[in-house]
Amino acid sequence: MEYNRLRRLRSTKAIRDLTAQTNIETKNFILPYFVVEGEKIKSEIISMPGIYRFSIDNLLVDVKDSVSKGIKTFLIFGIEENKTKTGSSAYARNGIIQKVLRALKDKFADKITLITDVCLCGFTDHGHCAIINSEKIDNDTTINVLAKTALSHAQAGADFTAPSAMMDGQVLSIRRMLDNQGYADVGIMAYSAKYASNLYSPFRDIFDSSPKFGDRQTYQMDIRNSNQAMLELEYDIQEHADIVMVKPALFYLDIICKAKQLFNVPLAAYNVSGEYAMIKKLADGNEKLEKALAMESLISIKRAGADIIISYFAKNIGSWISE
Ligand SMILES: [Zn+2]
Repeated sequence: MEYNRLRRLRSTKAIRDLTAQTNIETKNFILPYFVVEGEKIKSEIISMPGIYRFSIDNLLVDVKDSVSKGIKTFLIFGIEENKTKTGSSAYARNGIIQKVLRALKDKFADKITLITDVCLCGFTDHGHCAIINSEKIDNDTTINVLAKTALSHAQAGADFTAPSAMMDGQVLSIRRMLDNQGYADVGIMAYSAKYASNLYSPFRDIFDSSPKFGDRQTYQMDIRNSNQAMLELEYDIQEHADIVMVKPALFYLDIICKAKQLFNVPLAAYNVSGEYAMIKKLADGNEKLEKALAMESLISIKRAGADIIISYFAKNIGSWISE
C-alpha cells in the first residue's frame, strides 16, 4: 500500500484555513473587569501587565473600547475595602458591584451582557468564600447569603450571576431566590468544576483575598479528581444552571473535553490569571511571541470543547484574528 499524504491539507495557508476545525471568534469571549471605589483610577496589576483596576468613570471608557473591539460580555468583580466577618457588603444596595451594574446598564443597556461574580471572599475579613461558624465553613448559611447577593445583582441590572464559592446547593439557592423575587429571566453561569489551583495567585493579589487561616480545599475541587467534576457539573445543571464552567482551563483541558462529551449546556472555561501571567512572562515584551502563545492556548481551550472562554486576552482577540 502507498502511504497517505496528509501534508496536502497543510500545503497553503488558504487550504489550512479551509480545513481548520477550530476557529476563534470574539463573540465567544468574556472579559473580566476589576472595579474599585473612587475616581479617575486605572492602576495596573503588577503580576498581570495590561490588566487594570478601574474606578467606575474609567471603567465606562474602557468598556466602550472593548465593545469597539468586538467584546460585549463582561464578568464583573468588585474590590471592597470594607471587609467584615459576614461579608455583608456583598449584597449592599450601594455596594461596588451594584453601582457598576447600574452605571454600565445606564450607558450601554442591552448592547452589553453583564455577568457578576457571586462570592464572599472579596468581602469577608477572613478571606474565605463562605460564612465561618466555630472555625468551620457554614455551607447552608452561605448559600442563603449568596442568594441574597445574586438578587442584589439582579436588581441592579445583572444579566447573569456567576456563583463561584463552590458551596453545595448554591445554584439552586440562587435560582429559587431569583424566581421568587421576579427575576426568572436572569441566568446563572455556575463555576461548577472550580479546582483548588495555584494558578489563581495573581488574582488573589488583586483582591488581597487569600484566606487568613486554612485554605480552600474543603470547598474547591481536589486537583486529582475528574469524576467528581462531572458530578459537580451534572448537579449544577439539575439545579438549573444555564451555563457551566471549568476553572482553570489550561491544566484542565481533559475536564473540559469530558464535560463537552457528557453535557449539552453551554460550557465555559476560565483562562485564569496565572495562565495569563505565564504567557506574559514567557513572551517578555515580544508582542509577536505573546500573540502566538496566547492564540495557541486559547485555541487549545476551544478545541478541547469550551463554547465560551473567559480571558484577560479577550480585548486583543479581534485584532489578532484580523491580522
Ligand atoms: Zn470566593
